[in-house]
Amino acid sequence: MSRRLRGLPASPGIAIGPIWWFRRALPAAMRTRGEDAAAERMRLQAAQERAAAELAALRAAQRDRLSPEELAIFEAQELMLRDPELMAAVEAELAAGASAEAAWMKAVEAFAAQLMALPDPYFQARAADVRDVGNRVLRHLVGGLEAPAMPDEPVVVAADDLLPSETVSLDPRRVLAFVTEGGGPTAHAAILARRLGVPAVVAIGPDLRTIPEGARVLVDGEAGWVEVEPGSEAVRQAQARRAVWLQERAHAEAVAHEPARTRDGVQIEVAANVGSMEDAREAFQKGADSIGLLRTEFLYLGRAAAPTEEEESAIYRALLEAMGGKPVVVRTLDVGGDKPLPYLPMPPEANPFLGVRGVRLSRQHPDLLRQQLRALLRAGVGFPLRIMFPMVSTVEEIRWLRAFLEEVRSALAAEGFPLPPDLQVGMMVEVPAAALLTEHFLPWVDFFSIGTNDLAQYTLAADRTNPAVAGLADGLHPAVLRLIRHVTAATEGTGKWVGVCGELAGDLLAVPVLIGLGVQELSVNPVRVPEVKATVRRWSMAEARALAEEALRQADAAAVRSLVAEARS
Ligand code: PEP
Ligand code: MG
Repeated sequence: MSRRLRGLPASPGIAIGPIWWFRRALPAAMRTRGEDAAAERMRLQAAQERAAAELAALRAAQRDRLSPEELAIFEAQELMLRDPELMAAVEAELAAGASAEAAWMKAVEAFAAQLMALPDPYFQARAADVRDVGNRVLRHLVGGLEAPAMPDEPVVVAADDLLPSETVSLDPRRVLAFVTEGGGPTAHAAILARRLGVPAVVAIGPDLRTIPEGARVLVDGEAGWVEVEPGSEAVRQAQARRAVWLQERAHAEAVAHEPARTRDGVQIEVAANVGSMEDAREAFQKGADSIGLLRTEFLYLGRAAAPTEEEESAIYRALLEAMGGKPVVVRTLDVGGDKPLPYLPMPPEANPFLGVRGVRLSRQHPDLLRQQLRALLRAGVGFPLRIMFPMVSTVEEIRWLRAFLEEVRSALAAEGFPLPPDLQVGMMVEVPAAALLTEHFLPWVDFFSIGTNDLAQYTLAADRTNPAVAGLADGLHPAVLRLIRHVTAATEGTGKWVGVCGELAGDLLAVPVLIGLGVQELSVNPVRVPEVKATVRRWSMAEARALAEEALRQADAAAVRSLVAEARS
């Protein structure tokens, strides 16, 4: 009998093949007590040095094979080896008489647990890096822990979760799909799967362990399920769907650099969400018409002091250049609450998502905002730059932000700097109050970009980082769609535009609904650009509008999803 296990969709596509369990070799028995602290310290230092040399060699050897993102993971791991907080914890254990291996692993586990306890999934995923580097050093201390060898034929790789060095140890030609017990869409297995273009389903839970080695499974990476021992009819259908998917994907990539027009000729801008220089290069290469959201947090997080204006400006300029003259929407710093900055002391908050986030934080630290705006205006001369403010909830805030921007502009002009003449200024719509009062925000902006990740969490009262309720915050919920409709209806005929830059924009089921609601720009993960463009081309505006009207009348997100799935088939 076949049975279906549900998880979270992490990389689209269909695969059929035998399960291969990624099993780690257990370390040899570990000594827990040390001889004397100085000798143990020397053993540990030698193991750390060997681990650092290995990581440097791995980066050098794999430079062509790994994405810049993956190379950065190993670079960060080299830094972790010398992390002062981690080493202080190790020292305390050594002083208490622990062996090098016991002291090291205890400190590593405590560090990883600290990261896992943070609400931001980005930091939770970094716990895997800490464990990975921990195992690498341990291997030099006690031996064992080698990655298992893959079978010769292509397999569906199953694991509890995969560490970065484990994912790169796999031969991509023999990976049909990834299925993991834990992890999330930002976990390493998910990132690797998306880059390799193979399906992945993550967070399946302990039921995954009931699938025996070699059992045949069918993986649907878009719907997010795994079927164990599927019947012959299901396999035949899946094979047909897989053939169509591969063919469509090849075609979508071949025409990704063409504009996306609906069947009746309406052009939709398909933009990319980027968070680094590497992402921007990928966006350009994948055919994005523009950058619809540059998350600037990467410039500020993970460092001890804020960047200088010159540093910031040079990075913005390099990004604008990487996009070859295409428009770039730069969002001002969106930290606070769950993403604290080490150099901005902030009191802890009981509800960080309802606290001092985004522009609320910028107003408390106007120097930081001033510098960011100055760096942007200086970099933007000669480029189609767009500046966007996050987490705006009241009209008073946008008025203040516009006045502040004018002040920065005048100051720069007085200092003799040229200014970008065609600057567009916009705001994110992430708070239901802002969506409902669109008409009052209109005089202050050139565009709205709807952040459905936050808009859904605030509309459904479901914390987007809490896996127990994250499923409730579906952007296709009719309540969210009605808010989006409110924004597009109020903007119609004003010459201003509306985009969506939340994850929903890259959800192929949501694409026709959003354009039917009047959204003109979809900003998505760079790898999604070709398929989102292909989906736009499949619909006419008349069909999309009718579908959107019907979606608005549904009672829940599941009903909207079945409606679109039926209309598409
Ligand atoms: C959003 O909230 O939808 C969004 C795009 O912003 P972020 O995910 O960075 O909060
Ligand atoms: Mg947001």
